[in-house]
Amino acid sequence: MIAGHFGLAAIVKAKEPATPLWALMLATAWLDVVFIPLFALGIETIEPAPGTSGGYGAGIIHADYTHSLVGALVLSALFGWVAAWQWGRRVGLVLGAVAFSHWVLDLLVHRADLPILPANLGGLPLLGFGLWQSTAASVLAELALLLAGAFFYWRAATAVTAGKAPELTGRANLAAGVLLVSGFIVLALDVTGILG
Ligand SMILES: [Zn+2]
Repeated sequence: MIAGHFGLAAIVKAKEPATPLWALMLATAWLDVVFIPLFALGIETIEPAPGTSGGYGAGIIHADYTHSLVGALVLSALFGWVAAWQWGRRVGLVLGAVAFSHWVLDLLVHRADLPILPANLGGLPLLGFGLWQSTAASVLAELALLLAGAFFYWRAATAVTAGKAPELTGRANLAAGVLLVSGFIVLALDVTGILG
């Protein structure tokens, strides 16, 4: 799930226009961004789910630090803290919450592979509702987030430019269109296994 996370970022942008869109995009992907170096070092790993050959939604992801509940809270707080220092308290709170929304969306789609404590200390139950077991349901959920994101972003952007120079409205339409098309491309690359 990549496009779905970005769709959520676009929904938040519509409600919190003072927050930079790029920072929202980075916040929704933050846990995965930190995952990349740990994956490269072999500290966090992915294996194909039993009975699959891997690919979209078919991985058991051992992201035991970045995607543990406590790890995700710490990383999100860190993101929000840096953002608050840069842009003020409200934007910091928004970006911290958006960073943590990654874990909540992952909780819906992941098979039960999300630990509560880092390194799965104490061997507590692993979490994940496993929507990924149905590719169709997962793609539909991502599409719904993407369409909602592009729609709310477009509505907010055209409301701001209403009654002003027509080229501003044109630019708002274009921005929403670019957001939607790039979301579709990311989703297609994700589903076909070209990404991740
Ligand atoms: Zn993730």
